Amino acid sequence: MNKYLQHYIGGHWVDSDGSETKAVINPATEEAVSEVILGTSSDVDKAVQAAQKAFPSFSETTKEERLALLKRIQEEYAKRVPDIAKAISEEMGCPIDVASTAQSGSGLGHIASTINALENFEMVESTGDNRVIFEATGVVALITPWNWPMNQIVAKVAPALAAGNCVILKPSEQTPGSAQIFAEVLDAAGVPAGVFNLVQGDGPGVGTALSKHPGVDMISFTGSTRAGIQVAKNAADTVKRVHQELGGKSPFIVLPGTPLEMALPAGAGGMLLNSGQSCVAPTRFLIHKDQYDDAVKMLAGIFSSKAVADPATSGDHIGPVVNKAQYDKIQGLIEKGIEEGATVATGGLGRPEGMDKGYYVQPTILANVSNDMTPAREEIFGPVLVVIPYDDVDQAIEIANDTPYGLGAYVAGDPALGAKVARKIRAGSVFVNSGGLDFASPFGGYKQSGNGREFGKFGLEEFMEKKSLIGDIPA
Ligand code: NAD
Repeated sequence: MNKYLQHYIGGHWVDSDGSETKAVINPATEEAVSEVILGTSSDVDKAVQAAQKAFPSFSETTKEERLALLKRIQEEYAKRVPDIAKAISEEMGCPIDVASTAQSGSGLGHIASTINALENFEMVESTGDNRVIFEATGVVALITPWNWPMNQIVAKVAPALAAGNCVILKPSEQTPGSAQIFAEVLDAAGVPAGVFNLVQGDGPGVGTALSKHPGVDMISFTGSTRAGIQVAKNAADTVKRVHQELGGKSPFIVLPGTPLEMALPAGAGGMLLNSGQSCVAPTRFLIHKDQYDDAVKMLAGIFSSKAVADPATSGDHIGPVVNKAQYDKIQGLIEKGIEEGATVATGGLGRPEGMDKGYYVQPTILANVSNDMTPAREEIFGPVLVVIPYDDVDQAIEIANDTPYGLGAYVAGDPALGAKVARKIRAGSVFVNSGGLDFASPFGGYKQSGNGREFGKFGLEEFMEKKSLIGDIPA
């Protein structure tokens, strides 16, 4: 069993002041794979002190020095990709092929995109006779989830360091292993002592202590809307900057008359990736009423032929969902949908046939769903898709926007109409037909999907204060 019983503070691996630990259960085997220390508020105090001590000199480093540091991190990270992938796969059940490519590769994508953003970033601008200078915010705390663990960690750590901040990372207690390896990467890259600190622990403990801490200038949080609200409330008394990347319930609009074979396989594939555990997954399919029955049939065919298997083996199957709590929540939402009148077009309650262990969920299509039913409103975070009929494009847009979330949206069909529809959707990323999100494009949410944007220059700016310099200032 892996043991993650120390924090990385002030450039050293140190013991915790606490002794409570948590077992991380491999969701495929239901057996413990790791043991992680749950840090305490006094561990957080030490990390804040180390970051505060490092800040005066690190914030004064030049852009070139920070670029050189990011390039060393890039080299060290590349060496550890297989270890990172294995840890992700074992701790949250992502199939090893996805963990080795999209999951761990996203970290490299964010480092490269941050390097490019910093190279091109003007640290001084003019506004008339005044000057605007961009400065590091200070000590920043980063709280991250388990579903794309390296994506979220690196999308925060790389720009935070690029801007000259000192950071304290609290990764998800479900995925401590990849975070520990990432700390080893930063140590090997020679990040100065106190500039990067890792405190392992849970939300109520370390997360709350960071959110409330008067020595933390900014919190960048990714996770559920529920916890994001709690973080903002806890941060309010110290008027921290709070950046939130939260939940989603993204619509996938198939425009009227679009050939279904062009639209549905790609959309269904995006939905099933990572067993439906992606914040931006297209979880509500909106289909014109004339094509509805055919679409449900085709989607049921795609979902029923998707293999569900051991994440440790190579292949294009999906794995289990992350843990028992998530498995139970998904079962409850399928059940609720059935109670409310949805029909199960494929999948349904219980594990896939022949599986009696592991938190495996059947790829499930719920049809005859209206947008006011619970599975259409709540984030399910599993391989469960709801299919909703619409009468015309205006109604499709209305249904798409009728959600508290606003993270992503998808439109399939005529590109000219698709572009018009995309502008009417209240969401941070709208995909029309094909293509992936560039690591330099802004990523974030409208409404209760969050505040602020990550990735590239947009992420870099989030970690900077803007200072106006007025008066007689030499150039
Ligand atoms: P979660 O909110 O349970 O936990 C996320 C992180 O917050 C963890 O590190 C956890 O320990 C910590 N935490 C929990 N309660 C806290 C509190 N009260 N104070 C401080 N920290 C606290 O979310 P999760 O289950 O780990 O991740 C899944 C959620 O994350 C989904 O809702 C998903 O949509 C969202 N997500 C959003 C994005 C995005 O970019 N918008 C990306 C990935 C995941």
